[in-house]
Amino acid sequence: MNDSYGEKLTYLAEQLEDLKANHLYNRIRTLESAMDGHVVINGRTMLNFCANNYLGLANHPRLKEAAKRAIDQYGIGPGAVRTIAGTMTLHDQLEQRLAQFKRAEAVVTMQSGFTANLAVIPALVGQEDVIFSDRLNHASIIDGCRLSRATIVAYEHNDVADLRAKIAETTQYRRRLIVSDGVFSMDGDIAPLPELCEVAEEHDILLMVDDAHGEGVLGKGGRGIVDHFGLHGRVDIEVGTMSKAFGVVGGIIAGKQIIIDWVRQRGRPFLFSSAMTVPDAAACLEAVDLLETSDELVARLWKNADFLKQELRRMGFDTGNSATPIIPLMLGDAELAQEFARQLFENGVFAMAIGFPTVAKGKARIRVMNTAAHTPQDLEEGLEVFARVGRSLGVIV
Ligand SMILES: *Cc1c(COP(=O)(O)O)cnc(C)c1O
Repeated sequence: MNDSYGEKLTYLAEQLEDLKANHLYNRIRTLESAMDGHVVINGRTMLNFCANNYLGLANHPRLKEAAKRAIDQYGIGPGAVRTIAGTMTLHDQLEQRLAQFKRAEAVVTMQSGFTANLAVIPALVGQEDVIFSDRLNHASIIDGCRLSRATIVAYEHNDVADLRAKIAETTQYRRRLIVSDGVFSMDGDIAPLPELCEVAEEHDILLMVDDAHGEGVLGKGGRGIVDHFGLHGRVDIEVGTMSKAFGVVGGIIAGKQIIIDWVRQRGRPFLFSSAMTVPDAAACLEAVDLLETSDELVARLWKNADFLKQELRRMGFDTGNSATPIIPLMLGDAELAQEFARQLFENGVFAMAIGFPTVAKGKARIRVMNTAAHTPQDLEEGLEVFARVGRSLGVIV
């Protein structure tokens, strides 16, 4: 420990040491290339099974061209928050196009999916209200709920009966909101949105879904979870992100016009943090264009994911409850997961170990993410390494 920090920071040094001792310290890898099916790390080309770049758009020529053209016309930064001088034609166009794409009444965009949750939840509910929140909801939903100062009632993961029971016990509040991830980011299972809709409608409760991992993945041509289940107009708020399948960065709030109007008045990250940059907005617009004209990339993503999952299961890996291209290899022990990731890396495969606090203690895993940018040969190569490392560590026989 370095005493130059002084006594007031000793607790941080101890906590960092603790993380290392418990195999929970994040060692951050730096990419020396573009994000794609292969990436360069430490000067080596690695097969990348690690990213949320589902459709391979992060390095797509059409998105790059669109961003460059937009920079020539509009510059780079917005220079202001949306409500002062930061709203450009590109932002308006993007919101209109996203609304059409998702068949929502209206859309407002944010700087990220994280800020979308921080904007919309506290705008809709407050101290006198209650939020029913799935136990495995994403950190940004949890933080949005906390910021709202509403009472938070967690229901068991994807358990509609438990949600009903919790609603029945909870009557003394002014307004109520049910909120769930659409696709759960660490398990790859899908929320029972049609049943959540029924419950919300029965009790006249606001319903919100965060479709970060469904945007560009679920539904016709990647139109998201509401489209996947045919629930247009029945989910009050659909949050999404353009940081995953869209390959860029940015948040989406889609829903009824009146809700979007209100978020533009009271969503704090909208009012107090600058707008999406020009190249981001332009690249996202191009992504919408691309998805509207062809579902080829979405189809390839699913084909790759189905093949990978089937083969990993056939080898004997436990892939949990995954129903989407998120494929967890459930290992349990954090040390084993870190060693697994380390050996994958040695063998040219980049896939990170995920442990507490991202998942519960004792539920460490490797999260295998393919992209439409992978060829069948890439998948075969990757599978061969997963099998070798799995056998060497005694995870499979
Ligand atoms: C990734 C994720 C977010 C955050 O999205 P960003 O655009 O990266 O900020 C929010 N919610 C869920 C469910 C996510 O998986």
